[in-house]
Amino acid sequence: MTLSCEHISYTALAEQFGTPLYVYSQSAIDEAFARYQTAFAALNPLICYAVKANGNLSVLRRFARLGSGFDIVSGGELARVLAAGGDAGKTIFSGVGKTEAEIEYALTAGVKCFNVESLPELERINRVAGRLNRTAPVSLRINPDVDAQTHPYISTGLKANKFGIAVQDAPAAYARAAALPHLRVTGIDCHIGSQLLDSAPLTEAAERLLVLVDNLAAQGIVPEHIDLGGGIGIPYRADETAPDLSAYAADIAKLLAGRPLSLILEPGRSLIGNAGVLLTRVEFVKHNGDKNFVIVDAAMNDLMRPTLYQAYHHIEPAETPSVAPFEADIVGPVCETGDFLAQGRSIAAQAGDLLVVHGAGAYAASMASNYNTRPRAAEVLVSGSEAKLVRARETVAGMLAAEQACL
Ligand SMILES: *Cc1c(COP(=O)(O)O)cnc(C)c1O
Repeated sequence: MTLSCEHISYTALAEQFGTPLYVYSQSAIDEAFARYQTAFAALNPLICYAVKANGNLSVLRRFARLGSGFDIVSGGELARVLAAGGDAGKTIFSGVGKTEAEIEYALTAGVKCFNVESLPELERINRVAGRLNRTAPVSLRINPDVDAQTHPYISTGLKANKFGIAVQDAPAAYARAAALPHLRVTGIDCHIGSQLLDSAPLTEAAERLLVLVDNLAAQGIVPEHIDLGGGIGIPYRADETAPDLSAYAADIAKLLAGRPLSLILEPGRSLIGNAGVLLTRVEFVKHNGDKNFVIVDAAMNDLMRPTLYQAYHHIEPAETPSVAPFEADIVGPVCETGDFLAQGRSIAAQAGDLLVVHGAGAYAASMASNYNTRPRAAEVLVSGSEAKLVRARETVAGMLAAEQACL
């Protein structure tokens, strides 16, 4: 058994580019995007890939080529989109803390819409737009108070979360937006959480937004689009199944029937998560009493999700192992007890073996850090039998370059 990405074995990729290594499959990206287009075809949505899931320039360029728009949460992400050839006119600016400089940059670039999360942000965007003599297109992010039934750290649509404007405060917020001279109300949006394995909460959120749309009509406010955010989950475990996109699309189509509202979606994880893996090599196998540790060269700084969300990533050897499986924690070299990729796993591995950590396309490289002065890993994009280095491995010299020893 030899595992591969498209037509190239992981072993060959690790030999050529070293480890740890993120590997992305272009055809898996294309297929994931096509699944959305097919499922939602009847609604002709603008699909805005959420850049924070994986902002590699080649990944963004691929989505741009496929016709995708983008959902960004910082000025830095807008710079990525533009550098990758993305269309600002298909870009939505989300996030709770947009700075004046970011708003100015986005207005000048001509983003499609600002997803506004608070009254003070409305005032700020109006002020910046006035100064630039422009009109800013705005949507209000509504917090519909539905339980996404996902990990608390990736649940965003509950009253207790920092995100969005509460439903009951929305009519007044819309009235304020409509009254501000340099804003144009174009939409309504929500994003209730991530890694949802059931689309029912997403549909419920859409229903709550539409009740609000009907109430806004009485105020003479008519949004042109409804943006349902992202959040569709992916199977990380063998026993998990992704929500049925076609069924979700059919539910939304039913809700939108007869309404003059265009649809925007902001998927991240479901477009890239299972298009990527993290390759890591076993350094040591260590036995502490009756506990086993497989110590690998990737760590929490390369893949934060297990530490941050108790997330599960399937891990397996890249080649047929020459030892029997045993139970172990798979851990990195970082000096933290929380530094693990997996706990209590059955794994067959010995020093020198290559392991494949699945589901590492989303929220892996984009969340990586230099903790423990570890250079961030290289990223490779595979298409057929071609592998392109799309981010060079960082060097320690590069990491030290911005610092000065001045005392
Ligand atoms: C993170 C995020 C997304 C993407 O979420 P996924 O779960 O990766 O699909 C979409 N919209 C907003 C506002 C986000 O913050």
